[in-house]
Amino acid sequence: EQPLETRDPEIFNAIQGELGRQREEIELIASENMTSAAVMEAQGSVMTNKYAEGYPGRRYYGGCQYVDVAENLAIDRAKQLFGCDFANVQPNSGSQANQGVFQALLKPGDTILGMNLASGGHLTHGAAPNQSGKWFNAVQYGVRKQDNLIDYDEVQALASAHQPKMIIAGGSAIPRVIDFAKMREIADSVGAYLHVDMAHFAGLVAAGEHPSPFPHAHVATTTTHKTLRGPRGGMIVTNDEIIAKKVNSAIFPGIQGGPLMHVIAAKAVAFGEALQPEFKSYMKAVRANADALADQLIKGGLDIVTGGTDTHVMLVDLRPKGVTGNITDAALGRAHITTNKNGIPFDPEKPTVTSGIRLGTPAATTRGFGEGEFRQIADWIVQVVDGLAANGPDRNGEVEKKVAREVVALCKKFPIYA
Ligand code: PLP
Repeated sequence: EQPLETRDPEIFNAIQGELGRQREEIELIASENMTSAAVMEAQGSVMTNKYAEGYPGRRYYGGCQYVDVAENLAIDRAKQLFGCDFANVQPNSGSQANQGVFQALLKPGDTILGMNLASGGHLTHGAAPNQSGKWFNAVQYGVRKQDNLIDYDEVQALASAHQPKMIIAGGSAIPRVIDFAKMREIADSVGAYLHVDMAHFAGLVAAGEHPSPFPHAHVATTTTHKTLRGPRGGMIVTNDEIIAKKVNSAIFPGIQGGPLMHVIAAKAVAFGEALQPEFKSYMKAVRANADALADQLIKGGLDIVTGGTDTHVMLVDLRPKGVTGNITDAALGRAHITTNKNGIPFDPEKPTVTSGIRLGTPAATTRGFGEGEFRQIADWIVQVVDGLAANGPDRNGEVEKKVAREVVALCKKFPIYA
């Protein structure tokens, strides 16, 4: 067998390029992380060859004895991680996990109540261009103008007015802990299911660094590749046997065919890692680093939405410096600091421009950065932003090059995938 390098040099080179990028850039995208080599080994294994429609012990294909071992381990470890009675580890992504829950518990045309995108919700929670917004009557709640926190009175009022069948809590840019008990109280007041999408903070929950959605949620979904540090994928957990059965039928045969058994094997490896004491220390560091990064950015004259974070993620409001998210994201990219532009609540700018960037600490914490490194990163961000404000995007090259050199030097001290 030819190795990839000679079989397909174009792809080999793209992968090498990506490896080099990950090695020499500081990854601050809040939804990303760096899996272990063991996770990648499982994901790159012969399990990719196997069809296994169905569930362990109840497959529609022969030869499933080994993939069953992998899926059972993934399920058992997931249940342990979240203290749940049931787990479905087959969703191919976080979006498909959410679709699975909808298919299990809703009918087209039903009313759902989720957080709007502009306040930090996810597309799959009822945004207009998403299937969830097209096939359901999606009503959306937001955050309060004065403090950018969820307005539970608004959620209650919308629930009472629209009588949703499901309330969705969670999102992609929510820096603060959500009051799950309150959300359940509201759901109960109108007979709705409470679905918590913990895609972002699942790793923190698993490590005891964030309140668990349980016992309040009827069902919770997550991605497996963010704070959980596993392969790209999704998962659904619940304590309710009836919901679990509906979820299983919804994922297969409802919305998916053959599960990605190599990914499920890699999920099992990642969940095994997350059950180790080192993962708790890792998550503590993710939290401490997020506090340090936010604090130092504030000292540098930037605003952080809600004044800080309870999690791994924060939204930087760039308006005090008079620059926008799109040019900042591009300038930081040239300085080898990877982020994403992100709308802030009540953003006066268009979604393609934005007044903010979203930052997260999981990936750079995985490579070993501590609070000192994160304070240094904040200083670099402030230097680039101040340069942008003073010089404009076309004349900030010197600042960006200087920061890039320093970033690369720091990255070399924290090698990854050596
Ligand atoms: N739910 C939330 C809260 C997310 O942040 C994301 C991903 O960004 C998803 C769902 C979707 O996950 P995926 O990109 O795997 O479909």
